Amino acid sequence: MDFQLSDEQLMLQQSVRQFVDKEIMPHITTWDREGTFDPSIITKLADLGLMGVCIPEHYGGSGMDYNALAIVCEELERGDTAFRTAVSVHTGLNSMTLLQWGTEEQKQRYLVPQAKGEKIGAFSLTEPAAGSDVAALQTTATKDGDDFILQGSKTWISLCDTADYFLVFAYTDKEKKHRGISAFIVERDWEGFSSQAIKGKLGIRAGNTGEIFFDNVRVPKENLLGKEGEGFKIAMSVLDNGRFTVAAGAVGQIKACLEASVAYCHERETFGKPIGKHQLVQQMIAKMEAGLQMSRLLVYRAGELKNQGVRNTRETSLAKWQACDFANKAADDAVQIHGAYGFSDEYPVERYLRNSKAPVIYEGTREIHTVMQAEYVLGYREDKPLNNMLPAWKSGDNQH
Ligand SMILES: Cc1cc2nc3c(=O)[nH]c(=O)nc-3n(C[C@H](O)[C@H](O)[C@H](O)COP(=O)(O)OP(=O)(O)OC[C@H]3O[C@@H](n4cnc5c(N)ncnc54)[C@H](O)[C@@H]3O)c2cc1C
Repeated sequence: MDFQLSDEQLMLQQSVRQFVDKEIMPHITTWDREGTFDPSIITKLADLGLMGVCIPEHYGGSGMDYNALAIVCEELERGDTAFRTAVSVHTGLNSMTLLQWGTEEQKQRYLVPQAKGEKIGAFSLTEPAAGSDVAALQTTATKDGDDFILQGSKTWISLCDTADYFLVFAYTDKEKKHRGISAFIVERDWEGFSSQAIKGKLGIRAGNTGEIFFDNVRVPKENLLGKEGEGFKIAMSVLDNGRFTVAAGAVGQIKACLEASVAYCHERETFGKPIGKHQLVQQMIAKMEAGLQMSRLLVYRAGELKNQGVRNTRETSLAKWQACDFANKAADDAVQIHGAYGFSDEYPVERYLRNSKAPVIYEGTREIHTVMQAEYVLGYREDKPLNNMLPAWKSGDNQH
């Protein structure tokens, strides 16, 4: 057990923190208000090697360990949830899925440009009638010669208008229920593909989220990921990677709440003393600190299991559930500490509160993770070995 970050991880943490302070912090209130961000941010993240930080160097990534990805997500979400969400779907849910389940040909064609940040990946599972209940999805992929014809739509897809490549889950055999779902790599440029952003979101307003539509999109058989019928298994297994990034981001959200609240505690005075001297305010600060430290430990434990190549569905679910709940509460308390000033965008905490809600919903709602944890403890749920594991990370040689 080692609770210290390595020199390389500390340098990474420092460089992402500086990047956030310089490139994101000065603009984020405006971007959030206008519902956009400067796309050059993604190019700059790619230049720093942050779009494929834990992807092996021979696939175009930075070759760092999985906790390096957690560090990137924590620091990015300190800036805004939109940027961490972009890394979550691009690296956590798409690139790491290709690393775990892709053929060598698929890795060369899609993973390498994604790891370099030259192309952007997204993850498309949710549909209008299928969120938590994945098997209720209605998109179909029908065999036509050597190809599949994709028909249907997805909703609430992060980076729907900006990603180049999408992982798409569709029924190839509805009769077989969840064993009839297959996974495909789909390119935006293919005929019959379109997308549309969702307007009026509560939070993550700087980010792009929306619907994608498949109107008889022809997908070559080479773009089937895994075997036919393995889509459900693939989706569930790779959520371990996406949830890990969400949990790590939530740690950054708590840190941002704490930084803003501590500054305000020293700045604002009531009854002749700084509000930080009032015990009930201190209680909120203390709870934020506890949430920060506990969440980070849960995240690093899940990351260490990934480094060892051990299945970590249970530990990642716990980290995601707890970190997101702590972040949501920390943001609520941060607004409370700011009083009326927390209710306007003069201070960042109202954005933190709005942003902290989606992570409690996506990648397994609070309720789904609560049920999962109870089922593990009660012996109703057990993780079976997977035929494809995320490769372990071996320290020293920078390789997976
Ligand atoms: C900002 C944002 C970005 C997103 N990005 C993506 C993305 O990139 N790709 C993608 O595929 N999806 C994405 N999603 C979708 C997200 O994953 C789903 O919203 C989530 O899985 C929940 O599904 P749902 O919204 O349909 O809620 P539902 O599943 O309809 O749930 C509604 C309510 O019922 C509860 N509930 C449902 N089933 C149970 C149960 N068995 N036991 C107890 N309670 C239950 C839920 O906890 C919730 O409170 C995104 C969502 C948001 C908000």
